[in-house]
Amino acid sequence: PYRLDKSNAHFRKAVQKMPLGVSSNFRYWGDNNTVYVKHGRGARVTDLDGNVYVDYRLGYGPAILGHCHPEVDAAAREGQQVGTVFALGTEREYTVASMISEMVPAAELVRFSNSGTEAVMAALRLARGATGKDHYVTFEGSYHGLFDSTMWTLDTDTIQEGREPDIVSYGKGIPAAVRSLFWQVPYNDAQRLEDVLKKHGHTIAAVLIEPILGNCCGIPSKPEFIKAVRELCTKYGVLMIVDEVKTGFRVRRGGAQELYGVKADICTMAKAVGNGYPIACIGGREDIMRNYGRGVAHGGTYTAQAMSLAAAEKTLTILRDTSALDDIAAYGTAMQEGMHKILSARGIPHSFTGHPSMSGLFFRETPPSNYRDWKTSDYTFYDTLAHHLIPRGVMCEPDSREPWFISTAHDKACLDETLDTFEYCVDL
Ligand code: PMP
Repeated sequence: PYRLDKSNAHFRKAVQKMPLGVSSNFRYWGDNNTVYVKHGRGARVTDLDGNVYVDYRLGYGPAILGHCHPEVDAAAREGQQVGTVFALGTEREYTVASMISEMVPAAELVRFSNSGTEAVMAALRLARGATGKDHYVTFEGSYHGLFDSTMWTLDTDTIQEGREPDIVSYGKGIPAAVRSLFWQVPYNDAQRLEDVLKKHGHTIAAVLIEPILGNCCGIPSKPEFIKAVRELCTKYGVLMIVDEVKTGFRVRRGGAQELYGVKADICTMAKAVGNGYPIACIGGREDIMRNYGRGVAHGGTYTAQAMSLAAAEKTLTILRDTSALDDIAAYGTAMQEGMHKILSARGIPHSFTGHPSMSGLFFRETPPSNYRDWKTSDYTFYDTLAHHLIPRGVMCEPDSREPWFISTAHDKACLDETLDTFEYCVDL
């Protein structure tokens, strides 16, 4: 029987010192349902009560080689010997920057950051500094980090009313004044983007796009859409920032840009870069990146700190030189095929989104292709299923938001266990 006694006891203690008892609002799953981790090893996570889960969340993607990867951790320890931070550069920054450039052609030059949020903030400022323009465009349903510029979404009530939805902030504390700086257009709708760029391109620095909507179960760009975004940005003199914080070094060695055959002016990568060690990067065209020497501010006490950098060097080496990403995709495909078989046998309509390495599962014939459709979809079956799966050891996304992430540590035993549990839970 599944018990969370120790997690619940810890919650009662933690909530006295920490809001919601956690360090991110999303980790709070209710007063009697918030899970605290004892440790993660490979593809499995053990909680305080000793429950073991096959982990399909991987910290929202980073642990692409599995938790506590021995070689990455050894590299990080070796990196520590350098020291942590110096307010000076080290040699390894060049080594890792060169590897990133080689894997992601758009990243002609590279700067490091600590998190996805910081990298996107830096990319947006760079675009503004390089173009001398302030405005920007994002797409409905995107997530680009915690900062004020990107924490905007559609008012769900107004989507349901079937009119042009209102754009609202993600919550309190985000200044209304920011709203005058951006346009938000429907994903996979190049015409709407062109309408905005045609009219306002002269004040727009950048179009910021996630190639796969990571916070909407991995809704992918249609290939012709992302190519059109590229062409429209060039046509209207606007920079294309491809936010590969989730997709970078995951869907391909060269990220979604390689998958789709598009090249960003500026791109951001994080998560998979360091297998969980905090490191992110901004890459871009040389003439744009050189603005860092021409008046565009960028820095950060912890940027390129030694431990994360060493972890990144090892992680990228493995992703570059082994079949890791093919293995991950093959596992994802096999999992989808297994689920498809189970669901088809029962006549349950379903579909998958994203990429096999980070895919969403929908209980409808065709998946949504934009945020409005995603937001107004019915998730009753998924949510019920997820709440059966988690107590039985399949740690999937509980609320139809993030895709299921795969690592190289997911093996045949994980797959068999997952599909057996899935089949059992579908019938509950
Ligand atoms: N951009 C994208 C596409 C993301 O998926 C995320 C994180 N989910 C971020 C930016 C923000 O990254 P972080 O949480 O590391 O600040």
